[in-house]
Amino acid sequence: MTAGKRNTAQLQALDAAHHLHPFTDHRDLGGRGTRIIERASGVYLWDSEGNKLLDGMAGLWCVNIGYGRRELADAAHRQMLELPYYNSFFQCTHPPAVELASAIAEQAPAHMNRVFFTGSGSEANDTVLRMVRRYWDLQGQPQRKTVISRINGYHGSTVAGASLGGMSAMHEQGDLPIPGIVHIPQPYWYGEGGDMDEGEFGLWAARQLEQKILELGVDRVAAFIAEPIQGAGGVIVPPATYWPEIQRIVDQYGILLVVDEVICGFGRTGEWFGSQYYGIRPDLMPIAKGMTSGYLPMGGVIVGDRVASCLIDQGGEFFHGYTYSGHPVAAAVGLENLRILREEGIVDYAREQAAPYLQQKIAALAEHPLVGQVRGVGMLGALELVRDKRTRERFPGKGAAGTLCRDLCIRNGLVMRAVGDTLIMSPPLVIQPQEIDELFDKAWRTLNMAAEELR
Ligand SMILES: *Cc1c(COP(=O)(O)O)cnc(C)c1O
Repeated sequence: MTAGKRNTAQLQALDAAHHLHPFTDHRDLGGRGTRIIERASGVYLWDSEGNKLLDGMAGLWCVNIGYGRRELADAAHRQMLELPYYNSFFQCTHPPAVELASAIAEQAPAHMNRVFFTGSGSEANDTVLRMVRRYWDLQGQPQRKTVISRINGYHGSTVAGASLGGMSAMHEQGDLPIPGIVHIPQPYWYGEGGDMDEGEFGLWAARQLEQKILELGVDRVAAFIAEPIQGAGGVIVPPATYWPEIQRIVDQYGILLVVDEVICGFGRTGEWFGSQYYGIRPDLMPIAKGMTSGYLPMGGVIVGDRVASCLIDQGGEFFHGYTYSGHPVAAAVGLENLRILREEGIVDYAREQAAPYLQQKIAALAEHPLVGQVRGVGMLGALELVRDKRTRERFPGKGAAGTLCRDLCIRNGLVMRAVGDTLIMSPPLVIQPQEIDELFDKAWRTLNMAAEELR
């Protein structure tokens, strides 16, 4: 290690020599070199070349309160001096984990009163799989092992997370999914709705769950897992008919409902949890991302009374946990993040001011000749690029138009992400109206430039 500041080229050379990146094609990255983000404040990032970027993705859907909040740094500093580490195994605990669990339970739906801490969203979903199976074992129904999930869902990148997820490209690498996980179609009306109207298609997609339960046999099905709104799959907002029908089905057959709140939790939809936005009643909610606004890694599973009372009352040790479950420094930061969300009324601000304005601006983009559909809920938005609005014909090159737009976006000082030919956004909840204006000015400029190049 050397002291002193390295320049961009030096950092890129070292990065290429020593750093294997997640979700990156290194050969494709090749000579171009990585973009080096050096600092951030509010909703803005600065790279090592001094370029200022508006972060339309809140990092990776996580920096809900925005960058640069000193209170979180102070909370971490204080906790590191007081107690930098201790575990919560073997009948121990520590104040930050206790306080955070109770603060989360206060915010969660009334029937969800306990939290199992993890280090990430993927670990949370690994915990879900083990906890769901443990629950049915304790219920005397060990044959109930199968979890039903959805094609193009995202539940993380560990073996269980990637298996629960429905990303075919991930499944192809490493013989996934593992046994006992099956997938049903996603509620993606614009892409897959055919001739059905939206409401009809929502019911059809939900009833795929019922059909799968009957096909497998009810007594073999443990749970259904889904994101309230698919994030990494392309901000896919289900038709209004979808969730009520899913709730009817899980209630009728008595299977557990797992609602993956890793993105939707902590205000993203304008409610504290996506389950509250849709009025659904989960048994388990995996959380991460907005839990600490990304300032430190942390995740967890919020556990409803049905599962918690079984795990507790039936006794016996659940042989599961992580060295860093409830890590005191992460918990102290999570607690401070929650305090800020509450005391500054940030979820209310998102619901009442930022989201209506953001959604109005997204809706206006539907006028652009490249945009086939716009969709969004709360502080999530998506624009789907098509060559022909009427027939929904796509551009050739499977995602090339999306990639082109994403790269143009950066040139215009805006970070949006591309999922195939869908551009998605998920800005910090604290984004101000004039910053939303700036975001959409840059998005329009990007689309106009892309239209020129694609013609
Ligand atoms: C990001 C994400 C995960 C995985 O979280 P990590 O912290 O990256 O492991 C799981 N579920 C959903 C819905 C996510 O968006």
